[in-house]
Amino acid sequence: MTRPGPRVAVVGGGLSGLVAAYQLSLDLPGAHITVLEESAAPGGALATTDFPSGPMELGAEAFICRRPEAAGLIDELGLTDRLEHPGTLGPAILTGGRLEPMPTGTLMGLPSDAGTLAGVLDPEDVARAAREPEIPFEWPPGADVSLGDLVAERFGPAVVRRLVDPMLGGVYAARSAGLGLRQVVPGLAEALDKGAPSLTEATRRLTARRATGPVFATLNGGYRVLVEALGRASGAEIATGSRCTAIRRDGPGYAVDVTGAGGTRSVGADLVVVAVPVPRALPLLTAIGGAEAAAGSLSGIRTASSAVVALEVDRALDLPQRSGVLVATDEPVPYKAMTFTSRKWPHLDDRPGHLVRVSFGRLDDDEVLDSGDEALTRMAVAGLADVCGSDPIVMHSRVRRWQDSLAEIGPDHDATIAGIRGELAQRVPGLELVGGATEGVGVPACIGSARAAARRLAAQWQD
Ligand SMILES: Cc1cc2nc3c(=O)[nH]c(=O)nc-3n(C[C@H](O)[C@H](O)[C@H](O)COP(=O)(O)OP(=O)(O)OC[C@H]3O[C@@H](n4cnc5c(N)ncnc54)[C@H](O)[C@@H]3O)c2cc1C
Repeated sequence: MTRPGPRVAVVGGGLSGLVAAYQLSLDLPGAHITVLEESAAPGGALATTDFPSGPMELGAEAFICRRPEAAGLIDELGLTDRLEHPGTLGPAILTGGRLEPMPTGTLMGLPSDAGTLAGVLDPEDVARAAREPEIPFEWPPGADVSLGDLVAERFGPAVVRRLVDPMLGGVYAARSAGLGLRQVVPGLAEALDKGAPSLTEATRRLTARRATGPVFATLNGGYRVLVEALGRASGAEIATGSRCTAIRRDGPGYAVDVTGAGGTRSVGADLVVVAVPVPRALPLLTAIGGAEAAAGSLSGIRTASSAVVALEVDRALDLPQRSGVLVATDEPVPYKAMTFTSRKWPHLDDRPGHLVRVSFGRLDDDEVLDSGDEALTRMAVAGLADVCGSDPIVMHSRVRRWQDSLAEIGPDHDATIAGIRGELAQRVPGLELVGGATEGVGVPACIGSARAAARRLAAQWQD
């Protein structure tokens, strides 16, 4: 007699939870999968809203298409004809009150030739960066260090403040001092492992063999298209308005307590996927019994909050011919980045107004998020006016806050996660933790993490 398919509870209906549900539906076709999502709609940080002129992203807006995970999933779901790529405009750096083009030949803000940094750095800082190849460099192969500390030591702190932190700020919401070199720029760590004699040379080797073709992609219609396709393809029951308050052991499986409009109920599950941000996962793991050590390690991973103000403004505004503005961390403005969305993405340039996103909030520098939505919108509009030299006429605006949604992926993160995975496998079999705090921040990393965890669960069930 074949046993019935497992009952699966996925806690969190963001990208990671939806991908885990989809992969489990492929690997365990008889499974009954319930995705428990506390908000009114699935998607989490994939959050497409509607302006009267069309879709606009309030969370993630793109993904790196040179990594295989997102492009592969999109292909599998039959969405390849929806792919769109950015145009050729690059970003500007806001530094010293001026907009300067992002220097050429840089990798995540690291220079391969300090001579290109003149517009962004003061002459003495350019000279300091230029001396980097002459400074003796000890690199033990396999070393894992803070990206920001290494760049500050080798090139000088101005390169961190004016290039590396602004470049990384949009993706990580943490400063590079808290991010691991190996996690954020693995190719650079490999070039150093292979004997590159300096950071300049390691960067030069990578930029020289950089693949041609687009680096980023997005979906026509917005990320909503992916969220809906995943929901459909997984066949999962997507229970929105359902907040998981506890996960308890129940015989060989689990009982997942859920609070929603109808009150509190308990969902029985043979397999559980926890796909929520770290501070939300911690109480759930701590209360299960057996997962305390894993929760303890997880609690060491810090998370950042942020907010996005999305604007459509009248085209009378003279928006710079740039994809957006990255802000040096010593610049006295409240926002950390602006994307000129309709300049960056040619398929969005047919809207009646210019589309612009203004982002706020970095780890350890997020007091600005205490401001109300109206105040954030005013700051966004004032920033845009400064950058453009005249006041925008706002046609539409929307504010979205992201609480604790981006994890700080520090040095030794991979070892920490391997330890957590080992603990969970041993102490709470049938339960997996996925999401941006595990195999890395960003859409491709979340897809990879969720698929791998779902495959492990399926293999365990089939054993
Ligand atoms: C503003 C912003 C911009 C970004 N831009 C990009 C980008 O351009 N490219 C890129 O690759 N990445 C980007 N990222 C990162 C990327 O979007 C995320 O790494 C990814 O979407 C995270 O997905 P997730 O499912 O792991 O987590 P989340 O999206 O945080 O989803 C978790 C879900 O769990 C739900 N939840 C939480 N607690 C509970 C509970 N107790 N019970 C039930 N449900 C619960 C939440 O409501 C949420 O829907 C961005 C992130 C943000 C915040």
